[in-house]
Amino acid sequence: MSEIISIANQKGGVGKTTTAVNLAASLAERGLKVLLLDIDPQSNASTSLGFTRGDYEFNIYHVLIGSKKLSEIILTTEIKNLKLAPSNIGLVGIEKEFYNPNKKNREMVLKEKLKEISHKFDFIIIDSPPALGPITINALSASDSVIIPIQCEFFALEGLAQLLNTVSLLKKTINPKLKIKGFLPTMYSGQNNLSKQVLEDLTHHFKDKLFHLKKGQRCIVVPRNVKIAESPSFGKPVISYASSSKGSMAYRDLATVIARG
Ligand code: ATP
Ligand code: MG
Repeated sequence: MSEIISIANQKGGVGKTTTAVNLAASLAERGLKVLLLDIDPQSNASTSLGFTRGDYEFNIYHVLIGSKKLSEIILTTEIKNLKLAPSNIGLVGIEKEFYNPNKKNREMVLKEKLKEISHKFDFIIIDSPPALGPITINALSASDSVIIPIQCEFFALEGLAQLLNTVSLLKKTINPKLKIKGFLPTMYSGQNNLSKQVLEDLTHHFKDKLFHLKKGQRCIVVPRNVKIAESPSFGKPVISYASSSKGSMAYRDLATVIARG
């Protein structure tokens, strides 16, 4: 069975999609079979891998409403071992369906759909939207763990308590196996005191939940890196677009930690 990891934080623009795309691509580069599942109506993960709307007819919305099987929407990407389940703006419609109080087990729809294909992959990485609504709840309910990217800027930890409460509530109810895999500081700038402060705060509160390549080494931090910002417009993960950039190295390190379990 595959390991299913959601990348989540209801704060917008903190590096969820960048992390999902590059972690998925870095795991695939190591020879692991990976599915990147885009469950954000913005479909930035799909675009980041070079797919535009016209490139595919069906997407995760059709799977969630039951008109397609997950295996029927999966796309082959330019990266060996990496497949994509794309999203589309039409996915906003699912919120209405999932809010229908008469719909039973509406938190578990994605989990059910994943059963069909999960044996085919070593990892399924889910890119979730910037909200704690039904889509993210479905992603977390289907996952073994969650990685929470934290942008090293002012207000970085704001809203985090709400996310952590949601995770602990899900753990107590519908998904007892759900774990916080870790916090990933993103867009870190060594010249910026605020960045340093956020990293210090994170280390203070969540020391055991930061990622370490080796014991005793500094935790894995994704630097603010122009190559990371440029890569989506070329439809490539940064690890392909600028393979030896500092951003690529950080995501490869993260994949090393995730792959060893
Ligand atoms: P949303 O909440 O809208 O889904 P997100 O959390 O998925 O956003 P991203 O889309 O990954 O965030 O990143 C937001 C923006 O910051 C993007 O333009 C991305 O290219 C850029 N970005 C992400 N990480 C870095 C980085 N380490 N260095 C420079 N730019 C970055
Ligand atoms: Mg995103």
